[in-house]
Amino acid sequence: MTLNGYKRRTLIALGLSALLFPVVGCRQQKTASGLPPFNGQQAFAEVEALVQFSPRDAGTSEGWKAAKHIFQRLETFGVEADMDTFVDMTPEGEKTMINVIGMIPGKTKEWVILGSHFDTMPGIDNFQGANDSGSSTGVLLELARMIQSSDAVPDLGIIFAFFDGEEGIADYVEGDGLHGSRYMARKLVETGDHKKIKAMILLDMVGDRDLKFTIPYNSTANLVQETLNAAHTLGYRDHFMLSRSIITDDHVPFLQIGIPAIDLIDFKYGSEPGLNDHWHTEADNLQNISAESLEITGNIALQILKQIAFR
Ligand SMILES: [Zn+2]
Repeated sequence: MTLNGYKRRTLIALGLSALLFPVVGCRQQKTASGLPPFNGQQAFAEVEALVQFSPRDAGTSEGWKAAKHIFQRLETFGVEADMDTFVDMTPEGEKTMINVIGMIPGKTKEWVILGSHFDTMPGIDNFQGANDSGSSTGVLLELARMIQSSDAVPDLGIIFAFFDGEEGIADYVEGDGLHGSRYMARKLVETGDHKKIKAMILLDMVGDRDLKFTIPYNSTANLVQETLNAAHTLGYRDHFMLSRSIITDDHVPFLQIGIPAIDLIDFKYGSEPGLNDHWHTEADNLQNISAESLEITGNIALQILKQIAFR
């Protein structure tokens, strides 16, 4: 690595560290009651806008444009945002990738991370990735907009983490895929900021018209309970199943550094209930996701936040 490369990464690390120690206290203290219900149509519009950049594979110009688009949406909402560029080794050599980070400070110095990847699986013809990864990205953007524009100030600050390079290109062998989340987790440990993160909630594949979350076994028990409580409160319990499978997804690097984490994923995305035949095919398009499912997901995420971040 060149000295320039080293300097660049060092400055970015300091930049994020500064962002993680915000000056708070000048906003009026209000409660979660100021939060309106989540609007699935607006989240769907965010997905439509994102999939204009397709495919948006990690390390490509469309991937870069997608990152810039997400960054600009956050700035438009008035959310403090950062494009965190990094270089990582992949089975195809080094690639330059970009995590986009948005931050809404809370009343304390503790944080919760809401995560989604935004890159697409390479090598699929006519691929939009409307569900994988458009759906979760659209929900996160709409959550950022509505929380920032509301009167509600959370107790825990909220970090919106849009990860690049989630998709592996060699069957998720060691070091392949999860590039953005592994990079962020590594940096949190380097700065010591991981101690301030109380929970990591990952959304992935949340737009299926037949929405049935299959929460993987490798999710932290208390967050599973918070999710089931939220689902019960909202009358969405039928949309949630507990899976006995382990899923390798962007929540794993956070589990590995001791942060409680959960993966809210519907890993049965198909032409019939129980099938996953739309996954990583050109059938993963806008026709096969719905605003209603995005709305259910957004309301669940909002309810979990009310339970753990707005105390
Ligand atoms: Zn995927």
